[in-house]
Amino acid sequence: MEFFESFEDDFARVGRWIAGYLQHPEAYPVLSANAPGAVRAALPAEAPEGPEPFDRVMDDFERVILPGITHWNHPRFFAYFATSAAPAAIAAEALAATLDVKAMLWRTSPAATELEEVVMNWLGRLMGLSDAWTGIIYDTASIGGFTALAAARERLDPSIRERGMSGSADLRVYISEHTHSHIEKAAIALGIGQRNVVRIACDRRGRIRPEELDAQIRRDLAEGKRPMAVAATVGTTSTTAIDPVAEIGEVARRHDVWLHVDAAYAGVAAICPEFRWILAGVEAADSLVVNPHKWLFVPMDCSALYVRDEALLRRTFELVPEFLTTTDGGARNYMDYGLQLGRRFRSLKLWFVMRAFGAQGLRERLRAHVALAAEFARWVRDEPEWEVVAEHPLALVVFRHVPPGLDAAQVDDHNGRLMDAANAGGEIFLSHTKLDGAFVLRLAIGNLRTSSADVATAWRVLREAAGAVGR
Ligand code: PLP
Repeated sequence: MEFFESFEDDFARVGRWIAGYLQHPEAYPVLSANAPGAVRAALPAEAPEGPEPFDRVMDDFERVILPGITHWNHPRFFAYFATSAAPAAIAAEALAATLDVKAMLWRTSPAATELEEVVMNWLGRLMGLSDAWTGIIYDTASIGGFTALAAARERLDPSIRERGMSGSADLRVYISEHTHSHIEKAAIALGIGQRNVVRIACDRRGRIRPEELDAQIRRDLAEGKRPMAVAATVGTTSTTAIDPVAEIGEVARRHDVWLHVDAAYAGVAAICPEFRWILAGVEAADSLVVNPHKWLFVPMDCSALYVRDEALLRRTFELVPEFLTTTDGGARNYMDYGLQLGRRFRSLKLWFVMRAFGAQGLRERLRAHVALAAEFARWVRDEPEWEVVAEHPLALVVFRHVPPGLDAAQVDDHNGRLMDAANAGGEIFLSHTKLDGAFVLRLAIGNLRTSSADVATAWRVLREAAGAVGR
C-alpha cells in the first residue's frame, strides 16, 4: 500500500520528536510569542492538490506550528488549571487512533465498552465512591454537565422529551457566582433560559449558602416555577472553593431537586485519603463530574460523569434508528447515554495512566503538587506587600501584590500589568481572575515536571515584574 510504505520511518521520526519534547518541553517559551494571524499567514490558502512527503509536513510542523504552541507540558505553565500528558497516555492515544474505534455500540468494539466500565469503576472506587454510581466518559466536563442537566429535566418532566418546552412553567437551575459557565450554557442549550439560572449568594469563602438556596427554591415554588437542578462545585475555577455538598444535598432532597456536583478539577484529589473530605456528602448527589484530563495526567480529552440513575440517563437520550439495532442483550451501548453517536476510545489512555503510575504513584504526584502550592503560598505570605487572597486547599494559590498608597483600581491595574510583564518573558505563564471585583493572580500547579525550582522561578519572575512595572 503506497501510503503505508514509509509508515515505520515516519512514525519513528514522530516518536523521536515526542521523546525529545517530553524530556525538555521547557526548551520552548511557555506562552507562544506569536502575533495573531502568524500561523495562518505562513500557510497556503489552498489545500495541496497532490500528496506531500511526510518529512515536509513534519518540517512545517516544527517550523510553523510549534512557534504557535503554548506549552501546557512546560513545567512553568501555571495558568488556568495546569495539566500534563503522561507518556503512557500519549502512547495509548496513538493506539486508539490506530484502532480508530467508534465506541457507540458494544459490538462496535466490546473492549472499548467494557474497558470504560472497568476504568470508571476503578476511578470511582479510588475516589471513595460507593458502587451505586455508573461512570461514563465524555470529552469534557461541559458536556458531562449538559448531559446531567438533560437527565435532570427528564426526571422533572418526562413529557418535555416529546412535546418540547413550550407552555411549560419556568424550570429553574441554581448556581453561584463561582459556578463554571458551562452550567449556564447548558441551561441555554436545553431551552431553560438564562433568566432561569439563579445565582445563590455565597459566604466569604466563596461557598454557596445552603439556607439561601432553600429560601430561593421556596420563593420559586410560591411563584409557580419548577426548581430543576442545583450545581455545587468542588474546587471552583477561581479559587478551588468547595461548596458544602452535604448541606446542599439536604436542601435538594427536601425539594426533590437534582444535585449535580462539578468536581472537574478537584475531584481526583479524593484518591488521596487525606483529601477525600472534599467529596463529603457526594453520595446524596445525582451526578458528579471529574476530569482526568485536568489533574490525572491524561491528555485532553477525558472527563468522567458519574450518575446514580443510569436507567434515567439512558431514557433521556436513547433513540435507536433501525440500522443501529442489535441483539446483544445485556450489553451497554454508550451511544444511548448522550448526544454523540461515535465516541472516541478514551478509556484506553486512562487505563494506561492508572497502570503506569499505580494509585500510589498518582497520589504521590497530587500530594507533591499540593505541597508545592503550600510552599509558594508561604513565600507570598512572608513577603511584605504581597497577600494570599483565598484559601488554598489543593494546588492553586490566588494572590496579589498590594503596593502601599494605591487605591483599589490602581492595585488592579498594577496587578494586570505585573501579570502581562511576567508572562511576556516566556519563562512562566499564569492567569488571573476577579474576586469581589478585584483583579487577582492565580498560580496553579498540576504538571508532572514542575519542581520546587520552577515555583521559585515563578516567584522570582513575579517579584521582578512587580518592580519593573512600577506603580
Ligand atoms: N468545571 C470547572 C470547575 C472548571 O474549572 C472547568 C474548567 O476549568 C470546567 C468545569 C470545564 O471543563 P471542560 O474544559 O472539561 O469542559
